[in-house]
Amino acid sequence: MPRIPSTRASGGKPIVAVIFTHSHIDHFGGIEGVLSAEHAQRDNVRIIAPKGFMQESTSENLLAGPAMGRRATYMFGGALARSPRDHVDSGLGKAPSKGHFSILAPTDVIDHTGQTLTVDGLEFDFQYAPESEAPAELTFYLPQLKAFCGAELVSHTLHNIYTLRGAKVRDALKWSDYIDEALQRYGRRADVVFNSHHWPVWGHDRIVDYLKIQRDTYKYIHDQTLRLANAGYTPREIAEQLTLPESLAKPFHNRGYYGTISHDSKAVYQWYFGWFDGNPANLDPLPPADAAKKYVAFMGGTDAVIEKAQQSYDAGEYRWAAQVLNHVVFAEPDNDAAKALLAKTYDQLGYRAQSGPWRDVYLTGAKELREGAQGTSLDMSRGLGLLRQVPIERFFDAMAARLNGPEAATSNLTINFDFQDRGENHVLTIENGVLHHWKRPPADNANATVRLTHPALLALIGGQLSPQQLKVDGDRASLGRFFSLLEAPDRGFAIVTP
Ligand SMILES: [Zn+2]
Repeated sequence: MPRIPSTRASGGKPIVAVIFTHSHIDHFGGIEGVLSAEHAQRDNVRIIAPKGFMQESTSENLLAGPAMGRRATYMFGGALARSPRDHVDSGLGKAPSKGHFSILAPTDVIDHTGQTLTVDGLEFDFQYAPESEAPAELTFYLPQLKAFCGAELVSHTLHNIYTLRGAKVRDALKWSDYIDEALQRYGRRADVVFNSHHWPVWGHDRIVDYLKIQRDTYKYIHDQTLRLANAGYTPREIAEQLTLPESLAKPFHNRGYYGTISHDSKAVYQWYFGWFDGNPANLDPLPPADAAKKYVAFMGGTDAVIEKAQQSYDAGEYRWAAQVLNHVVFAEPDNDAAKALLAKTYDQLGYRAQSGPWRDVYLTGAKELREGAQGTSLDMSRGLGLLRQVPIERFFDAMAARLNGPEAATSNLTINFDFQDRGENHVLTIENGVLHHWKRPPADNANATVRLTHPALLALIGGQLSPQQLKVDGDRASLGRFFSLLEAPDRGFAIVTP
C-alpha cells in the first residue's frame, strides 16, 4: 500500500478509508476538509457508503430544495443571533455548518446486512438500513474492538420521524426494527456504542438498555398513534394525548431535544393516512387569508380579537393566542399591534420549547414579524463539488418543476441540449404546460439546439452564465421563450404573513 500523506484533520494519521454512513449532507458535505478528490484517487482511498448513497445524496432535495431551504432557516434558526434569547442549539449539535459542501463517489458499496470488509487490518461488519432515518444508511460493528457505530439510527435525543424543514416522512416501524436488528446482532456483544451525533455509551448493560429504549420509543409512537387513529382520533387529538411511559420518557437520551412526540406522532399518521383527517370540514376549507378575514369578523373585529388575545397571552395561553393572532395578521398583514403581540407570543412559545427546532421555528417567526421576511438565497457555488455529481436528468427534472404551467399552457417547443463534452444529447419539450426530457439523439424538428458542456449547465443553474451566452443553432427566439417560461423560485417567501 502506498504511503498516504497525513492531514491535519486526521490528527497526523494517513487516511486509508472514509465511511459515509448516510445520505444527509451533514454526514458527507465536509469531505473536502479532510480529503480532496485528487488525493482520494491518487492514494486509492476507499470510500465506503450504503447502496443508493450517491443517488439519494445528490437528488433527494433538488426538486423541493428552494422551499426546503427557506423552511430550514426556520428550523435551524439561521437568521437568529447566538444568545440565551435566540438560537442556543439544534438538538443534534450546535448548528449546521455554513461552509462549502462536496461529495466523493463510493468505491465500496454496502448493500446487505452481514456484509464484511477489512480496512487497514480492521474488520467491519455492516448493517444495511435504508429508508430509516435517511433513505440510504448503514451502521457497522467492529468485532476486534467490540464497538458499534449506530450512525444516526440512534442518538441522544428523540429524533425526527418528520423534519420541520419539510421532507418525506420516515418509516417509524422500519426504523425501530433496524435498531432491534442492531441490538440482536451487535448490541449484546458491544462494549461501546458511538454514533454520528453526540457522545458514546460505554458498558454492556447500559448499551443494551440504551438500544432497547431508543427502539421502543419509535415503536411506541408508531403503535400508539395507530391505536388512537383506529379509535377515531385525528392528528392533533393524538398529538395532544400521546405521552411516553415513564421508562421511555425519563432517560435523557430519549428527550425531545430535536424531535417531539407531538410532531412525530403526526408523522406516523401522515405515513399511513396522508394529509386528510377524514373530517369533511377539513376537506376544502378556505385558504388562510380568506378564512382569517371571516374569523376576525365573526369574532367581533380586529380590536376585540387583539384585546382578547392579550388576555390569553397574560394568562399564559400562548398556543391559543398564537392561533387567534395568526388570523388577525393574515386578515390584516399591516396591523402592527397584532404583529407585535404575535411576535411576543412566539417568543414565549420559543422560550418554553425543549426542542431546538421548535424554539428556532418560533423565534424566527417572531423575528420576521418584527423585521420582515429575510431572503435566504442559497449560493449554489458553495455546492459545486456536489452538483458536479448530479446526473443531468435530475437538473431537467428540477427545471420541469420551475415551468410556469399556466403561461406555458399554449406553448409547443422542442429544444435539443447537446452536451459536447459528454457526447450526449437531451431532448426537451414543452407541451400542455408540461416539460418532458429524454436522453436521446437530437430531434430533427427542434426549434433550437443548444451546444453546451456540463460545466456550462452548472454555470447556467448557478446564474454565472445567462441563456443569452449559450451557443445556439436554430431559432434563438424560441430558446428565449423556453427560458422565459422557467420561474425563479422565491427563496424568501412569506411564512408568518400571507
Ligand atoms: Zn445528522
